Amino acid sequence: MQAFAGKIQSEGKQYKKVLNDKMKMNKTARETAVKLLLEEYPDAQCALDYDTKFHLLIAVMLSAQTTDVSVNKATPALFAKAPDAFAMAAMDPAELEPYIHSIGMYRQKAKNAVAASKMLVEKYGGEVPGDYEKLVELPGVGRKTANVVLAEAFGQQRIAVDTHVFRLANRIGFVDEPDVLKTELALMKAIPEEHWTAMHHALIFHGRRVCSAKKPACEGCCLAGVCKKNGL
Ligand code: SF4
Repeated sequence: MQAFAGKIQSEGKQYKKVLNDKMKMNKTARETAVKLLLEEYPDAQCALDYDTKFHLLIAVMLSAQTTDVSVNKATPALFAKAPDAFAMAAMDPAELEPYIHSIGMYRQKAKNAVAASKMLVEKYGGEVPGDYEKLVELPGVGRKTANVVLAEAFGQQRIAVDTHVFRLANRIGFVDEPDVLKTELALMKAIPEEHWTAMHHALIFHGRRVCSAKKPACEGCCLAGVCKKNGL
């Protein structure tokens, strides 16, 4: 009986593996997909406007669950009022709100921006640290924000997983993972490190321009020959 149960279990594992393998591209298809995406979007880059590491950090924090376009509309006036961490740390969150009220969750974001600025002043002399562990200690800074800051401001190879990257990575078949963190870790194995940041941008551009959540334009898509089209 025990041996039988063991057999079922092992067949179950095997079955799951076969399913997973069907959902994921093989190595050759993966390499082709990386090449095609990088060729399709050679100039893909961060769409947020910023001119200092501090501005980048605040812009990325503000961009959670909203568009980069709406953040770019709000930040010029905000950064004119609070150009650095010292100025923003001295403000009350309520003073920030009028500058960002067009952005979702602006009250919480105002609180986090002031609290993060205070921590930057107290612990890092007002500078943004180029260290993942230190970044995620800042109020309102999660894994995605830290990865974008490290990639953009410090030139590190990172794959920040936002809604586009998560959807495309799994739909195309780079990975087969149920959540953002597992997707990030699996993408780091599936894609060569020298392409992590460029592929992060290329996937976002492809998600915005071709492979949208509701209406992916598979006809004419550069990945049509290799994409697994999972979930479609
Ligand atoms: S548009 Fe279609 S073929 Fe292209 S990446 Fe999306 S699902 Fe794949």
